[in-house]
Amino acid sequence: MPELPEVETVRAGLARHVLGRTVVGVDVHHPRSVRRQPGGAAELAGRLRGATLTAAVRRGKYLWLTLDDGDQALLAHLGMSGQLLVQGSGRPADGAPAESVLADGAPPDGVLPDAAPPGAALPTMVRPLPATHTHLRVRLRLGDGGELWFVDQRTFGHVMVTATVPTPDGGPGGHGSPAPLLPEPVRHIARDLLDPALDRDALVRRLRTRRTEVKRALLDQTLVSGVGNIYADEALWRARLHGTRPTDRLAPPRVRTLLQAAADVMAEALAVGGTSFDALYVDADGAPGYFARSLAAYGQAGKPCPRCGAPIRREEFMNRSSFSCPRCQRRPAAGLRRHGSDHPLR
Ligand SMILES: [Zn+2]
Repeated sequence: MPELPEVETVRAGLARHVLGRTVVGVDVHHPRSVRRQPGGAAELAGRLRGATLTAAVRRGKYLWLTLDDGDQALLAHLGMSGQLLVQGSGRPADGAPAESVLADGAPPDGVLPDAAPPGAALPTMVRPLPATHTHLRVRLRLGDGGELWFVDQRTFGHVMVTATVPTPDGGPGGHGSPAPLLPEPVRHIARDLLDPALDRDALVRRLRTRRTEVKRALLDQTLVSGVGNIYADEALWRARLHGTRPTDRLAPPRVRTLLQAAADVMAEALAVGGTSFDALYVDADGAPGYFARSLAAYGQAGKPCPRCGAPIRREEFMNRSSFSCPRCQRRPAAGLRRHGSDHPLR
């Protein structure tokens, strides 16, 4: 599932390639991908047609493109397998024949636009995509002949056009725009650990008073956003904490260390384009991430802990797998566990 670094990689790709471009048409190929749009596909198309995309913004794992009318945004949630892929202008790069921009020898199928007027400024040429995709759910046709695709194999993700609302704290909505606005469905999502406007001391206090297990707190997007299962496990491993430790028993410096570890691991993943475990996840340009090679705990069951050599263990937590080192990350004594643990006594 894409977490903050993966979504930020997509956001940066969109910021490079689709801003300033105007939507001229919308094709919805699967109704589930627009299930959160009250008026469905017709409403999505009606609200997007004619709109120019003005900024690509992210808070946590939530990503949106602001529209030029100033109070609407196209919100995308990638779910488990969602991708946003940019088809370039379709204009050949460097005067090459048009067919050369299609991958895998796929024949042109009408995706390619009419030629722009001679001398017209061309958008950046983006990695060519096939003419279509098995899991293409929503296609935005752009005025210059390019396209923005929402591809989602498992259809847990969705896109919608929604009103924007002022941020509760008056700060910027997210990374990518200074505007103090958020899509309405994102208003309850907390700032993330890479957000300069995050008040980290206040977060330490809120986390400790939440009286829950520390991994549960890290995954709570209303407390701090952007951390999912992968980076939670990596941060807990770095901070030498077991995920079931009760937050109110952690001294503030330990919470600060943990939050810094989570910020560090996400920043490192971001620097290499995020984590990718299979072909489902690619960035906006179609390139997979490489951080999976650097994971110390997540997905490493049975392999030696990079710090002490003990075999990494896998446990069930919140219906998912958690990975930790049995020596570096001791489980709390049963009496210290919080009510609400999935497996309190084992
Ligand atoms: Zn260890």
